[in-house]
Amino acid sequence: MSTNAFITRSELSSTGSGMLDGHSVAVKDNISTEGVLTTCASKMLADYVPPYSATVVDRILNAGGTIIGKTNMDEFGMGSTTETSAYGPTENPTAPGRVPGGSSGGSAAAVAAGEADLALGSDTGGSIRCPAAFCGVVGLKPTYGLVSRYGLVAYANSLEQIGPMATDVKGVAQLLDVIAGVDERDATTKPSPETSSYQSALDEPVDDITIGIPNELLEGVGEPVLDGFEAGIARLEAAGAQTKSISISSLEPAVQAYYVIAVSEASSNLARFDGVRYGHHEETGGDWHEVYSKNRSTGFGDEVKRRILLGTFALSAGYQDRYYQQAQHARAWLQQELETVFESVDLLASPTMPVEPFPLGEAIEDPMTMYRADRNTVPVNLANTPAISVPVTGSSGLPVGLQLIGPANSERALFSAGEVVYS
Ligand code: GLN
Repeated sequence: MSTNAFITRSELSSTGSGMLDGHSVAVKDNISTEGVLTTCASKMLADYVPPYSATVVDRILNAGGTIIGKTNMDEFGMGSTTETSAYGPTENPTAPGRVPGGSSGGSAAAVAAGEADLALGSDTGGSIRCPAAFCGVVGLKPTYGLVSRYGLVAYANSLEQIGPMATDVKGVAQLLDVIAGVDERDATTKPSPETSSYQSALDEPVDDITIGIPNELLEGVGEPVLDGFEAGIARLEAAGAQTKSISISSLEPAVQAYYVIAVSEASSNLARFDGVRYGHHEETGGDWHEVYSKNRSTGFGDEVKRRILLGTFALSAGYQDRYYQQAQHARAWLQQELETVFESVDLLASPTMPVEPFPLGEAIEDPMTMYRADRNTVPVNLANTPAISVPVTGSSGLPVGLQLIGPANSERALFSAGEVVYS
């Protein structure tokens, strides 16, 4: 049993039959569920019951799945530990006394503890892969546009995707088969060139693939994490994959660029939560300025407020060129460099997180350390490409994730290689 993995345990019964018959699915609490609270783990949305479901939720129910509850998360997806939740932290069931990672920490904990067969998370800068790594489960951040975001409460639209989590690669592929595909209600979805099912990729050989290991993603990685990572790489090599060490300079500024872009988009997306149009409302007198201030200062937690302030600053007149535009340049450079890299390697590999799961209470005191720990996951969101985190065990016995990154629409290759690391 995990501690505090769920915010709400209401059930949504299946409406059809198919690939998910008999499967229970836990859904992150920033994904809309008709008639069931969707709080984003924020006091701001403590009473919000959506009048419609996200497309991914409809697809799961139509495929025979049952939704068993809404999972805990960092408030509005902002964090890497699930400790910024207004509902308190979730404990890591695989590493007791430690955080489950974030922001989809409740989803990872629910599948790790066997409370749900499958789960949905969302990944803006690593929020599926980080908790998958910390809890010893599998998580996939799909190619941008492969999965509908309709019904996802936005944190940073240009970066995020909903994606599957499970204890094994097969479960992740199975859930992706159900949720992927064009949605007329999300204009950013695109048809995938893939015609075979994702599950059928699990048996594909990897003996003709080349995997690049960027030096930049190994810098400063602790010994136990590195040992786990190398054990996973050894399995890929034993299965015939070629590996080679490479350098990708544009990875260096990625985490800084990510935090500028993510907070800028967040400051704009979260402007609607003012207690008048949406969200927590305090009975207070005064003019509109006082009413908005009161609603927003009592409805949002500290981490969300910090990011709204930073984002508003980064977009303000006089600073936009210095921060937001620079970050966009760094993003374009990374996209171009990765395109070139993927002409000579099929996939990239790295430790998902450079660190082991933090003890509860430690990282939340030190936001810069927490932000820096996202160094290996955020480049994937900036590049809009897919990546999977597969569990390996570090030499200290704590869970470690091995991340495989591919070019757009390479999910099948990620599943084939991921299965080799996993089995
Ligand atoms: N930890 C990152 C952040 O706080 C990623 C969060 C996410 O992917 N939602 O922004």
